[in-house]
Amino acid sequence: MASPTITPFQATAIDAIKPVIDTLTSTFKSQKTKKLEYRLTQLRKLYWGIKDNEGLLVEACKLDLGKPSFETFISEVDWIKNDIIFTTGKLKKWMKDEKPEDIPLANKLLSPRIRKEPLGTVLVIGAYNFPVQLSFGPMVGAIAAGCTCVLKPSEAAPNAAMVMKKIVDEYLDPKAYTVVNGAVPETSALLDQKWDKIFYTGGAQVGTIIAKKAAETLTPVALELGGRNPAIVTNKADPRLAARRLLWGKSHNAGQVCISQNYVMVERDVYPLFVAELKTAYKEFFPRGTKESPDFGTVVNNRHFHRIKKMLDDTNGEILLGGTTDESLNHIDLTIVKVKNASDSMIVDESFGPLMPILVVDSIEEAIRTANNVHSTPLGLYPFGDKKETDKILNEVTSGGATINDAFFHGSIPTLQFGGVGDSGQGAYRGKSSFDVFTHRRSVVKTPGWMEKLLDIRYPPYSTTKLAK
Ligand code: NAD
Repeated sequence: MASPTITPFQATAIDAIKPVIDTLTSTFKSQKTKKLEYRLTQLRKLYWGIKDNEGLLVEACKLDLGKPSFETFISEVDWIKNDIIFTTGKLKKWMKDEKPEDIPLANKLLSPRIRKEPLGTVLVIGAYNFPVQLSFGPMVGAIAAGCTCVLKPSEAAPNAAMVMKKIVDEYLDPKAYTVVNGAVPETSALLDQKWDKIFYTGGAQVGTIIAKKAAETLTPVALELGGRNPAIVTNKADPRLAARRLLWGKSHNAGQVCISQNYVMVERDVYPLFVAELKTAYKEFFPRGTKESPDFGTVVNNRHFHRIKKMLDDTNGEILLGGTTDESLNHIDLTIVKVKNASDSMIVDESFGPLMPILVVDSIEEAIRTANNVHSTPLGLYPFGDKKETDKILNEVTSGGATINDAFFHGSIPTLQFGGVGDSGQGAYRGKSSFDVFTHRRSVVKTPGWMEKLLDIRYPPYSTTKLAK
């Protein structure tokens, strides 16, 4: 029997969008998605849909991003499968009413509690760089929370988008979950509808469009945006360790990782050793160069290839390593550039590609000042140094998340909440936070009839109450 193939990308007809959302909305109102058993069944079906289509997902990520299958398994396929296993194991506990803390003794008679209620019908818009994880990840949270959900994967990863559509169509309840494929016209048509929450992952420019549109109907949003993330290597850091870890952070997914360091500030004394170690690590990771390596991906498409290449063309910095490009393959070598100052476009803008600009600094204070000037609220922060130094950097530079003495390792813990701050995003997810982000925490109390005698004092005329002054 021939193995299944990936259907060529096809956008959803715009006319079909509203009727589908109406169906999802009435399914939500039918109450069926709120039941624990229903949620668990749908999550398990999604698990099997992914498992049965692992080969297609790996092939899709290879076609879309040249993603090595090892990376697809650890950060896409197995990631989501493990997320589902974790979520199904915890869901009953998460759904339970919570007893609020700090309730005055007398009010405890009202049995106050927090009910966990699904928000309703929600929209998840994914990005292309981890096309499966960033789409199915929030969707797992939406299903777990008891919502109905439309998923709009990124059209920039068209093969992954079609495989995800196949999985959702074939395995999940079509009256509750659907995939709408398409680009700006389809996303705009989706944004014209009323949602109970919009969960968006992508760049800040589109994030702003989404937030504005959502504000028109007071729709809550979670925004997982980009970051111009600094790494700081002090003179006390171990140069080999810092070099290997940061080079890995830039080579994974060919640098198309929102939490990858966008630039590295290195104290002057350690700079020569750090660069030497980067060159050594490059040879160790990619003995025949990145272009020949099966372990290095490609830039997602020609538009992004030219965007990243322009940064290389425009820089007046010194290319220390890499620098070659091949448009026919959308390949950009893992490239290290010693930049002259922080106004280089590779630092000012998010490269979201395999470029690693290095800025030499004279002190940790200068690095902190520069980090805060470049972008006061990056998504990630990576200080390398001794404890006193890394504590100081952590204290004085804010970020959505941080890893000390490593590249973005905090982002590889699937159950640790993940999100930005300021203009790198709002709202967090992963693990229990994925359930929380689609859940309304509803405060409920119950006033027993026998309390009427005690409550007498609250009724007018107030002149007769004992509390009147
Ligand atoms: P993007 O903003 O170009 O696209 C993301 C989504 O928005 C896609 O589904 C796309 O169809 C939709 N879209 C594009 N233009 C639109 C418009 N005019 N109106 C409505 N919708 C529109 O982002 P991208 O290029 O896929 O991803 C790259 C960016 O995403 C980077 O900045 C990266 O840092 C960020 N990112 C953030 C995270 C995170 O978790 N914080 C994760 C991955 C990527």
